[in-house]
Amino acid sequence: MTIQANQIIRTRRKSIAIIIEPGGRVVVRAPLYATDHQIAQFLALKADWVQAAVDKMRRLPPRQPKKRYRAGEEFLLLGETLRLKIVEGGRSAVTRQGGYLCLRRDFQPRAKAALTAWYRQQARRVLTERVEHFARRHGFTYSKVRISSARTRWGSCSTLGTLSFTWRLVMAPLEVIDYVVVHELVHTRVRNHSKGFWAAVAVLMPDYKARRAWLKQHGAALTVE
Ligand SMILES: [Zn+2]
Repeated sequence: MTIQANQIIRTRRKSIAIIIEPGGRVVVRAPLYATDHQIAQFLALKADWVQAAVDKMRRLPPRQPKKRYRAGEEFLLLGETLRLKIVEGGRSAVTRQGGYLCLRRDFQPRAKAALTAWYRQQARRVLTERVEHFARRHGFTYSKVRISSARTRWGSCSTLGTLSFTWRLVMAPLEVIDYVVVHELVHTRVRNHSKGFWAAVAVLMPDYKARRAWLKQHGAALTVE
C-alpha cells in the first residue's frame, strides 16, 4: 500500500508528523532537512494507521452549515427535530410549542446565548430525572448532577460522586442519554474502562453498543452553532 501526502509542510521541527484532516487529506509536517525519500519511508511505515485514519475521516458526516437563527432552521431536542420560529413578545426568550422552537425576536441578536440557556434548563430537568430513575432502579448512590458545556465529553463522574453531563446531550434521543447516564453511574462503582466496567454496563443495558455508536456518528450535530 502506498500512501501519498497531499501536502508537505517543512518547518523548524525535529520530527515528522502525519495529520489527517477532515475529509481525509493527508498533511505531513516535517523538519526542514527531511528529504522526500525519508518522508515517503515514514509514510510507508505508518501506512496501515494512515489508511485507517483517512477512511475514518471520510466516513464522518460533513459539518453542518453554521446556524443563522432564522425561521425554519432545525434544532434537536431528545432526538426530535424542532423548527425555529421567530415570535413577537411572550414571557420567555425561548419556548417550545409542539414542533416549533420559538425564539422572541428581541433575542434574535443573542440567539446562541438564549438557546444555550434554554437547552441547559432542559438538560438539567431530563438528566436529573434519568439519573434518579436509574440510581433508584439499580441501587447506585451519587452526590449530585452537574450540567457542563463540554463539547465532546458527554459525561463524567468525579471521585466525590458528582455526575457531570454536557447540556448538548439533551439534543440526543432518550435511549442515547440513558446510555451516558448508565455509563457514568457504573463509574461510581468501577472507575476505569476495564472489561469489568463494560460487562457491568452490558448487564444493565445489553444494547449499549448501538447507543454509543449513535453518539459517535451524530455527536457533532448536537450543537446550536
Ligand atoms: Zn467512562
